[in-house]
Amino acid sequence: MKNIAPETVAAQADGAMDEETGAIVPPVHVATTFVRDPDNQYRKGYGYGRPDNATVRQVESVLTRLEGGAAGLVVASGMTAATTAFLALERPAHVVAPQIMYWALRKWLQEDAPSLGIEATVVDAGDPTAIAAAIRPGRTKLVWIETPANPTWTITDIADAARIAHAAGALLAVDSTVQTPVLTQPIALGAAIVMHSATKYLNGHSDVIAGALVFANKNALFERAARVRSMLGGILGPFEAALLLRGLRTLHVRVRQQCVSALAIARHFERHARIEAVLYPGLATHPGHAIAARQMQGGFGGMLSIRVKGGEQAAIAAAARVRVWKRATSLGGVESLIEHRASVEGPGSPCPPDLLRLSAGLEAVDDLIGDLEQAIAAA
Ligand code: PLP
Repeated sequence: MKNIAPETVAAQADGAMDEETGAIVPPVHVATTFVRDPDNQYRKGYGYGRPDNATVRQVESVLTRLEGGAAGLVVASGMTAATTAFLALERPAHVVAPQIMYWALRKWLQEDAPSLGIEATVVDAGDPTAIAAAIRPGRTKLVWIETPANPTWTITDIADAARIAHAAGALLAVDSTVQTPVLTQPIALGAAIVMHSATKYLNGHSDVIAGALVFANKNALFERAARVRSMLGGILGPFEAALLLRGLRTLHVRVRQQCVSALAIARHFERHARIEAVLYPGLATHPGHAIAARQMQGGFGGMLSIRVKGGEQAAIAAAARVRVWKRATSLGGVESLIEHRASVEGPGSPCPPDLLRLSAGLEAVDDLIGDLEQAIAAA
């Protein structure tokens, strides 16, 4: 069936089952090597487990459909996915990337990528004129954006960024980890590559590290990325892929509920005496609200941040008092997480020191609000 809804694709893992037994859940393909045909061919499409794996392919098939892409690659982490995308560029390559983005990738772009022939100009990606100004015609190969972007949830207009990139002969890549394909499909808005830390919402249970790339076209760029995965050995293990496939089955219900809870939490604390500001694209006060309302369908995501009155020490003290929220890094799982983000990002981070990053899980929202209330009461 062609016009099947995304919820159905996800819930049924794009039809993955076991043909031999009729099992509703497909087996995990653990084999690392495959028998050659007598005439020396590999007609079944598999030869060795590092370039490809059947369980990994099942995840790729679900994700590619959810993103409306042509091909996908599932890898060992979000960082592997992102670095694979950059290493697939023809180098030397100039790229434009956001100032507000997943900090470790910004660090890799600034500190490691130059020696690999990748030069990044970092800009305020919430401002399209800043993206346009950073482009070097003829030299810029890729514009990288993350939306909503960690940890202030800065919104970039994807269609606008794609137009700017295309006008200069560059491609657009979107780190779509936070919005997920449930809320936005960047390929339909002009992106050539969609990247995910599948560790987060796609898996959703804080028990798998994984990453994914989905390509708008099965073209030379995709082939180069597949080669990078094969050569550097970044493929996801089959057991992790099976867990990820299971997590994806509930993606839509999880993300929709997390959006509802995040909005309720944001609204509750918006004008709170102990809170300096609530950063959430679902609030009219957020600078990216109008664009988010246009490009995110059915919710504004499960991530928000609060800035606690009293500065860094007050924020750290509030995080120390939570009982329901878990003090931990990462996001997108079923359990709600709270994190003093500047402590993670370290010196030089643009993250405000009074900011606590919140990942809304699937607990009762009143428990989450009540717990935060008591935690900030004494701040
Ligand atoms: N992109 C975003 C938006 C993230 O939040 C993260 C991880 O926190 C990554 C990329 C990196 O993903 P991973 O930790 O799976 O390597």
